[in-house]
Amino acid sequence: MKNPIHHSSRLLRSNVDLLKSRANRSAYVGIGIATITIILATILVSTYSTGRITLSGIIIAQQSNVALWILDLMPFTFGFWGQYSSSIIAYEAGTMVFDQTIALRNRTDDLEKTANYAATHDALTDLPNQSLFLDRAEREIIHAGNHNQVTFLLIEIQNYDEINNTLGRNTCDLMIKQFSRRLHGLLNTSNTLARIDGSIFSVLLRGSTADGQQIASNILKAMESIFEVEKSPLAINANIGIVVYPEHGNDVDTLVQRAGVALNYARIEEKGYAVYNSTLDVYSSHKLTLIGELRKAIKSDELVLYYQGKVATQNYAVLGAEALVRWVHPKHGLVPPDEFIPMAERTRMIRHLTAWAVRQSFADCVRFHQMGIDIKVSVNLSARDLNDPEFPDLVAGLVIASRVRPGWMMMEITEGAIMTNPERSLEIIHKLHTQGFSLSIDDYGTGYSSLAYLKKMPLSELKIDRSFVDDMIDNNNDRVIVNATINLAHNLGLSVTAEGVENEIILKQLQGFECDLAQGYYINKPLPFDQFVEHIHNSDWLNFKTITAL
Ligand code: C2E
Ligand code: CA
Ligand code: CA
Repeated sequence: MKNPIHHSSRLLRSNVDLLKSRANRSAYVGIGIATITIILATILVSTYSTGRITLSGIIIAQQSNVALWILDLMPFTFGFWGQYSSSIIAYEAGTMVFDQTIALRNRTDDLEKTANYAATHDALTDLPNQSLFLDRAEREIIHAGNHNQVTFLLIEIQNYDEINNTLGRNTCDLMIKQFSRRLHGLLNTSNTLARIDGSIFSVLLRGSTADGQQIASNILKAMESIFEVEKSPLAINANIGIVVYPEHGNDVDTLVQRAGVALNYARIEEKGYAVYNSTLDVYSSHKLTLIGELRKAIKSDELVLYYQGKVATQNYAVLGAEALVRWVHPKHGLVPPDEFIPMAERTRMIRHLTAWAVRQSFADCVRFHQMGIDIKVSVNLSARDLNDPEFPDLVAGLVIASRVRPGWMMMEITEGAIMTNPERSLEIIHKLHTQGFSLSIDDYGTGYSSLAYLKKMPLSELKIDRSFVDDMIDNNNDRVIVNATINLAHNLGLSVTAEGVENEIILKQLQGFECDLAQGYYINKPLPFDQFVEHIHNSDWLNFKTITAL
C-alpha cells in the first residue's frame, strides 16, 4: 500500500513548483517592463542632453545620470522580489493545501471507520450485528478445528412484537437496551454477544453443549425478574435454541439454520431452551402448526370446557366441579390439554387461553347457579398467570362482565407454578384472594414446595396429585404419603381433594383418612356442560348440598 504522507509530500513539492513557476512568470514580465523602461529612459536622457540618439550619448547618459542607476537596479529588484515572493506564496499555499489534504484524508478515514462500524454494529445496543457475528463465527470455527467445540445460542424475545405494538417503539428500544445489558452482565469477555435482528440475539462461546445449556439457563433465570421501563413493569419471555460445532454442523450456515430449528422447539419446551437434534426437524413442525392454530381456535370457539365433579367422600354430595379445557380440532378431533397446554405455556398464547378459560368458566358457573346447582367451579391457572401483574385486573373485569360471584369460584394453581417465582405469585394470589376467590394448590406432592411458602398463602384447598392416589392400594408408601398429606393440610386449615380416584376401594380408603373431597373417573370422567348437568341429575347415589364446607 502507498504511504499517504509520502504521497502527500510529493504532491506538495510538485504543487510548490507549479505555483513558483506561475509567480516567476509575473516576475519575468516585471523584469521585461523594467528593462524596456531603462532603455526608453536612457534614450530619452541621451536625446535630452546630446540632441541625438547615439551610443556615446547613451553611455554618457548612463554615467552622468544617477536616476538611471536606480532605474538600472529595478530588473534585479524585480527578479529578486519575484523569486522571493513566489517562493513564499508557493510554500504558504502548498502548506495550506497539504494541511487541507491531511485533514481531508483524516476525515475520510474517520468516515470510513464510522461507516465500517455502522456496517458491523447495531446502532441501538452497540453490539456486533449479524454480519460481524457470522464473520466471528466463521473465524471461531476455523480456530476450533477438529478438536474444539463452539456453541451458538440463538435467543429471542418472544413478546417483542406485543411490547412494540402496545407500548410503542421508544419503550421497546429501552427494553432492548436493558435486555442486552442484562445479557452482557451474564457473559464473560471471551463470548461474543450480537444482536442479529429486532428481537433476536446470539451468543458465541468456546465450549460444549453443557456450557451452552448452563448459559441458557442463567439467561432465562435473569429474565425472570421483571424489567422496569419508564416506571412500568415489563415481563420478557425469552426462548433459546442451542447448536454445537462440530456436532450439529460443519459450517456457519447449517449451524445457524439448525439453531433456528432448536429455537422453534424451545418455544414449546417447558425449560425455555432446547439443544438441536435431528428429530426436532419433524417433531417441532407438527407442534408448531398446532400452536399456530391455537390462536385461531381461541378466537373461533373451537375450545370447550368439560366438567369433572368433586364429591364429598363422606356422603358423595357434589360440592364442586373442575373445568378442563378441550380443543375440538376441525382435523384432529378432540385434542387433550396435555398436547397443547405445555406449549401454550411456553408462548404468550397461554394468557389468551387462561383468559378464555376464566371467562368461560365464569359464564358456566353462573349458568350452574341459575339452574340451582350450587357448586364451586374450579378453573386452572398456569405459572405465567402468576407472573403477570395484570392478571388480577383482567379477572376483576371478567367478574363484572359475567356477574359471577367470586365466592362461587376456585382457582387452581400448581405447586410448580408457585415455586417458579414465589414472591410474585404470592402477590397475585393475595390479590385474587382479596377479590373473594378461593385458591387451591394443584398436583400437590410433585413440585417440592416449601411449607413455609404454603403457610404464607391464603389457600383453601390442597389437591393431592393423582400419581400418589393411583397407587394407594398397592403401594404402602403412597398410602402413608396420602394420609400424612391430609393431616398436614388439615393442620394448615386446608380442605383436601384427592385426584384420580378410579375405584371404590380408593374412595373408601380416602374416607377412612378423612379426606374431604374426591375427584376421578370413578365419580365421573370430564363431561361437556350439558352432559355434566344431566349426570348430576341422574346419579342416584349423589345428592345435592350447597357448598359451605369450602
Ligand atoms: P389437572 O389440573 O391435574 O387435571 C386433572 C387431570 O386428570 C385431567 O386431565 C383429568 O381428565 C384427569 N383425570 C381426572 N380423573 C382421573 C382419573 O381418575 N384417572 C386418570 N387417569 N386421569 C384423571 P386433562 O383434562 O387431560 O387435563 C390435563 C391437565 O391440563 C390438567 O391437569 C391441567 O393441568 C391442564 N389443564 C386442563 N385444562 C386447563 C385449563 O383450562 N387451563 C390450564 N392452564 N390448564 C388446564
Ligand atoms: Ca387442576
Ligand atoms: Ca391436578
